[in-house]
Amino acid sequence: FFFSSRRRITRYISVTGVQTCALPICAYLSEEQGTVSIFDRGFLFADGVYEVTAVVGGRLVDYEPHMERLERSLRELRLAWPCGKDELRAMHLELVRRNGLAEGLVYMQVTRGAADRDFKFPKDARPTLIAFTQAFSILDNPNATTGIKVVTVPDLRWKRRDIKTVMLLAPSLGKQEAYERGAQEAWMVEDGFVTEGTSSNAYIVKDGKVITRGLSNSILAGCTRHSLFRLARERGIVIEERAFTPDEAYGADEAFLTSASQFVMPIAEIDGRRI
Ligand code: PMP
Repeated sequence: FFFSSRRRITRYISVTGVQTCALPICAYLSEEQGTVSIFDRGFLFADGVYEVTAVVGGRLVDYEPHMERLERSLRELRLAWPCGKDELRAMHLELVRRNGLAEGLVYMQVTRGAADRDFKFPKDARPTLIAFTQAFSILDNPNATTGIKVVTVPDLRWKRRDIKTVMLLAPSLGKQEAYERGAQEAWMVEDGFVTEGTSSNAYIVKDGKVITRGLSNSILAGCTRHSLFRLARERGIVIEERAFTPDEAYGADEAFLTSASQFVMPIAEIDGRRI
């Protein structure tokens, strides 16, 4: 494990070469001490998965769903668990404690590990696990009162977006385009329909009904989406799971996004049209 201090990336930790449930070869280190091999397959092939868990009041939010999704991501890519589940939870809590994190997030990533560069899976690589925290205000976000702007961009990603891989170049290009066009998020469009945001799930509201794309390989099953569905059910709010077009979104009564680091964020403008 590594940990350290900076302004935004306050601390980080990393665990490398951890075997299932055996005593982990791990450490909490300063950010300057934490290094990963240049042969790590996360670096060379984006051969890794990640999770981001929000922290509020020093407590982990929706931790179990995040770890269930991690388990699924690992299985789909035939990646080994880097350590036991209890150890991973203890690591999250210890990192929050050591870094004195009141509000923000814990980022964690697992890769297939370091090996001679070869497209095929290495036989003897041990998974690399790293984690760090970032401190910022989730609840007291000024965007939540004004709403944010969204632009639409083509969805350039691969076909297994249900797996939370570290292959984030297309979303990064989309987010950059959004910022350059004066917006805060990009909604990605495929075959004429919105898939999701570059780092969030996408919703519109029409005639009191919430509309969002159904789960498939085309989008990530957001943990915040899951919680939103539960809250909507408890309050008798109808959610219609279907794809919608940008045109339909322009004519929506409301729009919003969900993600672990933003919870529910209202959207006030899509492609320059006021919602
Ligand atoms: N879709 C994508 C592509 C994302 O990157 C994220 C954020 N990880 C989400 C949806 C929202 O998922 P969650 O609510 O679990 O953060």
